Amino acid sequence: MQLTEKLEAILAEVTRRNAGEAEFHQAVREVLESLGRVIAKRPDFADDALIERICEPERQIIFRVPWIDDNNQVRINRAFRVQFNSALGPYKGGIRFHPSVNVGIIKFLGFEQTFKNALTGMPIGGGKGGSDFDPKGKSDREIMRFCQSFMLELHRHIGEYTDVPAGDIGVGGREIGYMFGQYKRLSNRYEAGVLTGKALFYGGSRARTEATGYGNTYFVQSMLGTKGTSFDGKKVVVSGSGNVAIYTVAKVHSFGGKVIAMSDSSGYIVDENGIDLKLMKELKEVRRARISEYLRIKGEGKGVYFIKAGEGSIWDVACDVAMPSATQNELTGKDAKSLVKNGVMAVGEGANMPTTPDAVRIFQEAGVLFAPGKAANAGGVATSALEMQQNASRDSWTFEQTEGRLATIMRNIHDTCAATADEYGAPGDYVMGANIAGFVKVAEAMRALGV
Ligand code: GLU
Repeated sequence: MQLTEKLEAILAEVTRRNAGEAEFHQAVREVLESLGRVIAKRPDFADDALIERICEPERQIIFRVPWIDDNNQVRINRAFRVQFNSALGPYKGGIRFHPSVNVGIIKFLGFEQTFKNALTGMPIGGGKGGSDFDPKGKSDREIMRFCQSFMLELHRHIGEYTDVPAGDIGVGGREIGYMFGQYKRLSNRYEAGVLTGKALFYGGSRARTEATGYGNTYFVQSMLGTKGTSFDGKKVVVSGSGNVAIYTVAKVHSFGGKVIAMSDSSGYIVDENGIDLKLMKELKEVRRARISEYLRIKGEGKGVYFIKAGEGSIWDVACDVAMPSATQNELTGKDAKSLVKNGVMAVGEGANMPTTPDAVRIFQEAGVLFAPGKAANAGGVATSALEMQQNASRDSWTFEQTEGRLATIMRNIHDTCAATADEYGAPGDYVMGANIAGFVKVAEAMRALGV
């Protein structure tokens, strides 16, 4: 989409100042593409370098993480925390451990997080962190030593009123536990609200583990509802097999849909009878096994098959609803074309920016309902904010109460995006609705707080 001259100049400056950070440029461009309509209606939003300020992180921390492996060798990784925007509350966002992590990836994630968190309606700013550490194949002790060394530096930059990290790819309950333990030792404070995604027995929230996947499913159910339909009887493909993917499958099944394919970095599995979630959870959460194990256990020739990575795409599997829940830019223009050809009617992004810009365009031009991650996957961070609330009041809510709040938040996000898209002359365009509603909220707060 064309940008106005002013927005084009802002993007050029962001690109110059953050050279080589392709994912960050992509995320900024996508938001700026929505802002032309805002400035046309409210030119004051272009004053005082408001848009330029929103595109520049408030603070970026880069640090060395030395740790000792099981062979007694000293290893080094690089780590980041990008504190993007604190207009609405303390910085909030996950920590990612993956070899692909670099400052550009963390910056794109922190930028997205700022608008996502605004959409939840909770008092949280946006941030993101991570390291190029690869948890794959590491022993439990190595993970613990890495998390402790990581926190040895990070602890001075975070706090329940400053910056509240959580998990993301490669960081789950185990890692949060090791980091919280180290923070507690270093600070001599039992500051439960400094990290979210904690286990239930030391200050975690019920439904936090399930929240991102459940939330995306609620969002897509609301979108389907605008067309008078629902998940009931629909064939669904969910990429990934981490926390987000697993609880997406659980919720889709409870809504009467049938998930027929899931993936990991080694390939994808199709089960035409519907994914056996109990087995998948055992493989992924307990045994930390490769997804091809699913076929080995189920056996050949019963509607189950496995395709190795590089030999095909999970998006070649025909479905009514696609829920990309693995990682950024995993669903390309080519994939979008094959999904459209096979009759997909809705897409909900469980991961952050999993759909490339040309793929989004193909879906929208084909009239496919498309839910951008910053709206659809906001249930995770929204439930993190509910965890912070429980920590602040030293309370612990029931699963029903917490999930009830999550369902209401997701319905509100859906309705806000839909109403904003209508208001700005782009009915049915959830990308436009999410970007504009998120931007207006953050921009109003920044203006109120002064330059
Ligand atoms: N990593 C998640 C996200 O991308 C959750 C962040 C959080 O709970 O702070 O939104």
